Amino acid sequence: MSSTRILIIEDEQDVIDLLTLNLRKAGGFVVSTATEGAAGLRKAREEMPALIILDLMLPKMPGLEICKVLKTDAATRKIPIIMLTAKAEEIDRIVGLEFGADDYVTKPFSPRELILRVNAILRRGKGEVAEEKMSIGAITLDPARHHVAVGGKPVRLTSVEFKLLSMLMQRQGRVQARDRLLNEVWGYESLIDTRTVDTHVRRLRKKLGKAAVAIETVRGFGYRIRES
Ligand code: CA
Repeated sequence: MSSTRILIIEDEQDVIDLLTLNLRKAGGFVVSTATEGAAGLRKAREEMPALIILDLMLPKMPGLEICKVLKTDAATRKIPIIMLTAKAEEIDRIVGLEFGADDYVTKPFSPRELILRVNAILRRGKGEVAEEKMSIGAITLDPARHHVAVGGKPVRLTSVEFKLLSMLMQRQGRVQARDRLLNEVWGYESLIDTRTVDTHVRRLRKKLGKAAVAIETVRGFGYRIRES
C-alpha cells in the first residue's frame, strides 16, 4: 500500500510532534513539515502532498497568505488544506475558507478529530463520499441514483440544486461561503454573481418545504446545514 503524504506547515514544535505522532499511529501517512511559509510553499510544490495542514499563526508569512498563494497557483490549487486556527481568529478562518481552504480545526484540537477530518477530505477527493447515501433530518440524498426525498417522498431538483444540497450535506455543520459554492457547483471559470447562489438556495428551500429549516443562512457569508 502506498503512503499518503501530508505536509504540516506549523512553527510550534509540540503541535508538529502531536500531529506527526498521531498520523503515524493512524498508519498510511508520510509526514513532511515546514516551520515557515517560504519553506512550506517550496515543499508543497516539490512534494505535491495529498493534503496540507496549515497553521494560520506563522512567523514572516501569515497562514492566510500561504493559503491564497497555494490556491491561486494552478500547480497546487487542488491540494486540500486544513487550517489550524485559534478561537480568536474567527475572521481569518472565514477569509481562509473564502481563499479555498477545505476545512479548519480550532486549537486546542483533538488529534483524533483532526485525523477524521483528514480522512474525510481525502475520501472526498477520491469521490468515494459522493457515492454514499446521506440523510439529515427528513432529507435523504442518494448520489448514485441522483435522488432526493423528504420524509420518503421524492423531490425533483435541478442538477444545480442537487449539487448545492449535496455540497451542504457533505459538509454538515460547516459554513460554506457563497464564493466557494459558486466555484464548486458552477465551476471555477464561472463569473456568475454570488447572488445567484441565494436564488438557487431559495428555490431549493421551497422544494424541500419544512425540511428546509435545516439549511441556515450565515448572514453576509454563506450557508450551512445545521448539525443534528
Ligand atoms: Ca503557530
